[in-house]
Amino acid sequence: MKIAFISDVHGNLEALTSVRKSLQNKRVDKVLFLGDIVGYGANPNECIEIVRDMSDDILAGNHDWAAIGKSNTDYFNTVAKEAIEWTQDQLTEDNKAFLASQSLIGEMEDFICVHSTPFHPEDWGYIISIADAYESFETFSQSLCFIAHSHNPIVFIKTDTKDIVARKPSQTKILKGFRYIIDIGSVGQPRDGNPLSCYGIYDTEKKECGLIRVQYAVTRAQEKILGAGLPPFLAERLGFGM
Ligand code: ZN
Repeated sequence: MKIAFISDVHGNLEALTSVRKSLQNKRVDKVLFLGDIVGYGANPNECIEIVRDMSDDILAGNHDWAAIGKSNTDYFNTVAKEAIEWTQDQLTEDNKAFLASQSLIGEMEDFICVHSTPFHPEDWGYIISIADAYESFETFSQSLCFIAHSHNPIVFIKTDTKDIVARKPSQTKILKGFRYIIDIGSVGQPRDGNPLSCYGIYDTEKKECGLIRVQYAVTRAQEKILGAGLPPFLAERLGFGM
């Protein structure tokens, strides 16, 4: 089975439609969404409708919860807060109800997936260091955990000798006796210095997880952010992938 993991669209319709098109050639059996459909970008409602249509399962992210007042924005920076307030005003009642109904963790036999961390996902912590990964590996039993949230694709590997290493490969071979935490990056606001959209595909037979980068109409997404009166920095950063 081939499973696609997409996440962190953040209201970027141009990025989402390009990723959807890219997925049409990949013959995946399932699409799992790992949170943050909204926040930052200019098309929250449209993105919710497309993600609902293309995904088999959808998890909530911190911006999804913040946009419906389900979690507070005290820890958000000024531009994120401003964008969430704008998003709250845009969302239809139907889409608010939809965001409110999403769960935080998905579990399958050989993997778990979550927006933030497998322990206390509602605290929206990050797994960005070996120390974070060390703590996280203790809290799930499967060999694989797919995450998002940082917008910065990375793989933490717990080897058969229990060492933990961090890698940034485009392709990860899943080895027997090893365990993995795989951050699949962001569709709508990449922050790894590469402006291309990012998503992951896990092939359960080949035991391989690959990251796919997709070009999209960045300028159009930037124009819409500026046209909506959202903070200009949110448009600028898309050009740099920061
Ligand atoms: Zn995000």
